[in-house]
Amino acid sequence: MAQEVLVYILLGIFGGMLSLFLCVYAILKIKYAPGGKYYILATFMSAIFTFAYALELTSTSIEEIKFWLRMEYIGLPFIPVFILFMCMEYVGFKQPRWLPYVMYTIPIITITMHFTNEFHHLYYKSMMLRSDTPFPIILLEGGPFFYIHSIYLYICIILSILILLIQLRKLTLRFRLQILMMVAGLIIPIVGSVFYLTGLSPYGVDLGPVSMSISFLFHGAALISFQMFNVAPIARDKVFESLKEGVVVLNQSNIIVDYNQAILQVTPFLNAKAIGKSIIEVLHHDQKLKDLILSEEEVDFTSSKDDKVTYYHISFSPVLSKTNEQIGQIITFVDVTARVQMQEQLQKLASIDGLTQVYNRTFFVKEVEQTVADYQKVGGNVSFIMFDIDHFKSINDTYGHEAGDIVITYVAQIAKECLRETDIIGRYGGEEFIICLPNTHLPHSNQIAEAIRMKIENSYIVINKKEIHVTSSFGVTSKIVEWNGDVHLISELMRQADEALYEAKKNGRNCVECFSSRAAM
Ligand code: GH3
Ligand code: MG
Ligand code: MG
Repeated sequence: MAQEVLVYILLGIFGGMLSLFLCVYAILKIKYAPGGKYYILATFMSAIFTFAYALELTSTSIEEIKFWLRMEYIGLPFIPVFILFMCMEYVGFKQPRWLPYVMYTIPIITITMHFTNEFHHLYYKSMMLRSDTPFPIILLEGGPFFYIHSIYLYICIILSILILLIQLRKLTLRFRLQILMMVAGLIIPIVGSVFYLTGLSPYGVDLGPVSMSISFLFHGAALISFQMFNVAPIARDKVFESLKEGVVVLNQSNIIVDYNQAILQVTPFLNAKAIGKSIIEVLHHDQKLKDLILSEEEVDFTSSKDDKVTYYHISFSPVLSKTNEQIGQIITFVDVTARVQMQEQLQKLASIDGLTQVYNRTFFVKEVEQTVADYQKVGGNVSFIMFDIDHFKSINDTYGHEAGDIVITYVAQIAKECLRETDIIGRYGGEEFIICLPNTHLPHSNQIAEAIRMKIENSYIVINKKEIHVTSSFGVTSKIVEWNGDVHLISELMRQADEALYEAKKNGRNCVECFSSRAAM
């Protein structure tokens, strides 16, 4: 046997052994990793292909060569498809269910055509032994199916490379090296087969099997030294992207290093173009958000988009190096709209009287305290009106408690309609109401009370087809709020209004009495 062929045989055996080793290693270590299953299949097929090729080179007759050629074709046609699927799965590309059926069709046709070539010569037009080589090498002239198979093989490999390169942009350096290693592994068999197809390989020996083994060596190297099938970067990527919270990562110079899709809800300025730019520059149209980020304080932030208000809680966490130095920070925007709305709802429930929808007594006092405190800074006149439905017990007795409830609500509604935006009304208890009128003198508040009284007197409500008429009595008081921080002012005014109301009841009901006028008497 010629010396030269021995080198190729040994290379083939080495390639086959390597593929087999990688296959077994993959079965033991990376069976469940993304792409692992296809890596196992590809290396197994490669082992068949390369061993059969080595044996083809040991053949001495054309019949023997043809036999081993067929063995090679059991493995070869599937390898590029498995490699493509391996790359797809590795980068997390979700395959449609029909894809494997389509993709396996051509390899199956290739094998069939190759096995039955004797009958149609559509795979190889001719097969003969070369006479110019020191060892038996078959000279094959490809037919149409040979070219279909070859083109398909290249398409699969090129697609695999493209898929890997697309992913390259999104990864950090460590994982980029891994991907580049895989790409190199894919380019090698292409170079090998270009040599073969252009007749540059020595004696027309197909370098495909040898280069394929070397390519798996690259994949294997990537696998072992860079943990090619490490789930972590993909998982981390997926988790980061699927977070509901908007996240942006800055380095120490406030340069945007990374962001996730959810951040686009917070601000449209943080997008792909923003990577590598300063956050100050990127958010120069959004002064409020920029200031909040630079302040590095945990706060709530309100964002309005298309009339929809969203509340976010912003938090900052440092990114530390191995030596515990801060090298950046992660800013997280948590959507707290539901919580804020719930709080508002609860606050409303705690402040509003369920029956009449005006403030309850506690919240009324709180609101008035706030208003009066504001007034105390500038000074001004505050009036109070207290009113109570006349002979209400008889309404309950005549029409029932439920009808009584409706009447209370109806009277509260009339009072509300007579008030201004700044006036505050609360249910003082039972069928008694209190109103605070900021910046209002006594004559004006007296007029307002009179207007409410008249409206109640002159209207009626129909319950169970019965007209119910009621009247109310009013007590009014007013005082100049001075800059002295008098804490008893409100209770004093309420007491005065109550006294005036008592007077109104005494004076025959359905009337308005002013505290000051009573005092003057
Ligand atoms: P006056 O003219 O002196 O005010 O006579 P009145 O009968 O209205 O007497 P008062 O104001 O003391 O009575 C209030 C009554 O209102 C007592 C209670 O039965 C009734 N009441 C209190 N709260 C409610 C309520 O939420 N719903 C109903 N239906 N009745 C209530
Ligand atoms: Mg009453
Ligand atoms: Mg009462």
